Amino acid sequence: MGEFNRYDLVVIGSGPGGQKAAIAAAKLGKRVAVVERGTQLGGVCVNTGTIPSKTLREAVLYLTGMNQRELYGASYRVKADITPADLLARTHHVITRENEVVRSQLLRNRVDTFVGMGSFIDPYTIAVDDPAHGERITIEANKIVIAVGTSPRRPSGVEFDGYRVLDSDSILDLKFIPTSMVVVGAGVIGIEYASMFAALGAKVTVIEKRPTMLDFCDREVVEALMYHLRDQAVTFRFGEEVTEVAVGQRGTVTTLESGKRIPAEAVMYSAGRVGLTEPLNLEAAGLEADARNRIFVDDNYQTKVDHIYAVGDVIGFPALAATSMDQGRIAAYHAFGEPTSTLTSLQPIGIYSIPEVSYVGATEADLTKDAIPYEVGVSRYRELARGQLAGDSSGVLKLLVSTDDLKVLGVHIFGTSATELVHIGQAVMGCGGTVEYLVDAVFNYPTMSEAYKVAALDVMNKIRALRNFE
Ligand SMILES: Cc1cc2nc3c(=O)[nH]c(=O)nc-3n(C[C@H](O)[C@H](O)[C@H](O)COP(=O)(O)OP(=O)(O)OC[C@H]3O[C@@H](n4cnc5c(N)ncnc54)[C@H](O)[C@@H]3O)c2cc1C
Repeated sequence: MGEFNRYDLVVIGSGPGGQKAAIAAAKLGKRVAVVERGTQLGGVCVNTGTIPSKTLREAVLYLTGMNQRELYGASYRVKADITPADLLARTHHVITRENEVVRSQLLRNRVDTFVGMGSFIDPYTIAVDDPAHGERITIEANKIVIAVGTSPRRPSGVEFDGYRVLDSDSILDLKFIPTSMVVVGAGVIGIEYASMFAALGAKVTVIEKRPTMLDFCDREVVEALMYHLRDQAVTFRFGEEVTEVAVGQRGTVTTLESGKRIPAEAVMYSAGRVGLTEPLNLEAAGLEADARNRIFVDDNYQTKVDHIYAVGDVIGFPALAATSMDQGRIAAYHAFGEPTSTLTSLQPIGIYSIPEVSYVGATEADLTKDAIPYEVGVSRYRELARGQLAGDSSGVLKLLVSTDDLKVLGVHIFGTSATELVHIGQAVMGCGGTVEYLVDAVFNYPTMSEAYKVAALDVMNKIRALRNFE
């Protein structure tokens, strides 16, 4: 094999995990290649997942005028008849731009890209099969990062026709805006899409086999979200399983184990994802995947074969673009002996439902279970000038504060800009700060950030009352 196809690092997959691993290694002066089976770079994040769904959400919010209705009345719309073309034009525009950003970043850093399906020939050699050209190229690497991601799980017996029965991939090729919809699975993706279609005016039924949803979030926040979604004509069916999805000329009927039959113009499945490890021929590298096709790694993202790393969705929870990027960077640093720390445990979670939800740190349930004494400080958006300006009267920010040492233990936000605001709390917590910082800090006015100050004052008042008693 010539020098041409020999690399310090080969990354399989160009999603956020692979991309950041490649860039980090290139910045260390390493010769790097990325293998990508798709025609576009950027993975699920740019092409079918994070970016398209968030752009679609922006388009929905803008065109429906949803966020302005508190100010201008319930009938306010920017466009009366919203079409799939209206929604998808913006999505395609942003995807194209993001593809370019990824391509240019790899080019600038002299990372070679190979188009085709990557698989192991042996632990140090990758085959790249490009069916379009009937070609096989082999490349050798001292280190390898597997960042192949996942694809939507499609239960057997359900026919995904891309028209009436969809998943989060095919929804980006939506042919009509349904007036009624069944969403199977109340995970993050299911709830985000349920919110969007509810905002578009569809009567949405969410079916979830577990008794609750978003168990990892603050219960009060989830209750508030469910209240809002119900207000938008969303029906929740918890503890129910789908047995059949029948597709007819005019729509679908989803049958549940309990015997209920739900008619809807369309059905969207968001019932989990599986790792894309099957084509990798992992055995040739001395590796294997678990029952959901995921790869096991240690804290450095190293597999059981020392020079092979795995990052991103293919290693499982939390399966976010945000974490995948840092995992890629840390794996590359570790592979080439660059000092690095493990990923901080203080990772924010953002759910782009309508309204949005975000949190960092512990929940009340966690603290209660661990018998850690805390007090809660609350700020309601309707009491903030900025909340009134934005027309958001239902938003709320909750601070959980240790009554022992006043450290901020958790921040839970429901409402406008939740996914941005959470980082203020994250920074305070990351620096080991106490709630006193938030009491003393001067915030711009009028801003949503002021919610921190209001919640901090609220919690201090409660703690002071407790201390005065003692
Ligand atoms: C609808 C939806 C919404 C989401 N929203 C958010 C969000 O708001 N925030 C957030 O942080 N995360 C979000 N996510 C999750 C986020 O998209 C993923 O966590 C992230 O894309 C995972 O990155 P990755 O690098 O592991 O892999 P991916 O992005 O999945 O990329 C893997 C790449 O590897 C390629 N590949 C696979 N097998 C091979 C092979 N054998 N050879 C060559 N190439 C291969 C694929 O073609 C793909 O390009 C969302 C996901 C979905 C589906």
